[in-house]
Amino acid sequence: MNTLRTLRDLLPEARKSHVAVPGFDCVSDVYVRTILDTAQEERSPVILMALGRDLAGRGINYIAGLVRAVAPCYDIPVVLHLDHATDIQSVCRAIDHGFSSVMFDGSSMPYQQNVDLSARTVELARPHGVSVEAELGCVAGSDLGGKRVGQTVLTEPDDVVAFVRATGVDALAVSIGTEHGVYAAAPKLDIERLQAIDAVSPVPLVMHGGSGTPEGQVREAIRHGITKFNVYADCRLALNAGFARSCELIRQRPDELPDGVFKPLVASLAAQVRAKIRLARAHAMLT
Ligand SMILES: [Zn+2]
Repeated sequence: MNTLRTLRDLLPEARKSHVAVPGFDCVSDVYVRTILDTAQEERSPVILMALGRDLAGRGINYIAGLVRAVAPCYDIPVVLHLDHATDIQSVCRAIDHGFSSVMFDGSSMPYQQNVDLSARTVELARPHGVSVEAELGCVAGSDLGGKRVGQTVLTEPDDVVAFVRATGVDALAVSIGTEHGVYAAAPKLDIERLQAIDAVSPVPLVMHGGSGTPEGQVREAIRHGITKFNVYADCRLALNAGFARSCELIRQRPDELPDGVFKPLVASLAAQVRAKIRLARAHAMLT
């Protein structure tokens, strides 16, 4: 099978089944192949995401071109999703390059600006069949340089219906106590707030800052309405650990061939991807 799928194709079904579809940020082609191979082995749908920094210049040609070319080789549903766009130009560029889904992140903007730009994203995406995620409240955390960014604003359940109606988005990222990046101390998710949001939300809910969140809390969140579960930092740490093992291998065997050199790196990344897929339990949708 397989042309790219959208969040609309996957998340409402996940919501009914109380499972989540994992979303992984893809930094390079090694990520794309490792994530797709692992998701196929696990028979799980998967969302391949990309951040603006990795799409700069020809980055978008490599990631979008690769995913669109290889997705038909797998018989699992695959979404290609732009993560955290904060301007409309990035949204247009992703749509032009065949992304099947985009996130507009107005979480650091004033409420009305968030509404207006999220609605504009929907207007641009809809004619292309592209799904749209937006964020209400703000998931703060650390950026890739380790600097604190944003300020946590928990999502107010009372704001959800008006926001979704005014924007027309297909999925909503909510702030319930997670943070982006690596935690200094384990978070405590506000599951009651999540339940209240899920009870009124017309669209499925998304959790950012999934990395490092204790597994029991992630399971609770999925049970109570999280249908898309984003992972960046845990894969980055797994990649670094695998890369260190690859370096050690080259030190011991300087003539090692490239496939042998990549093996520890890919194995480490795949193990992390597999763990997150099993945590999200979306593979239950396909079995
Ligand atoms: Zn995020």
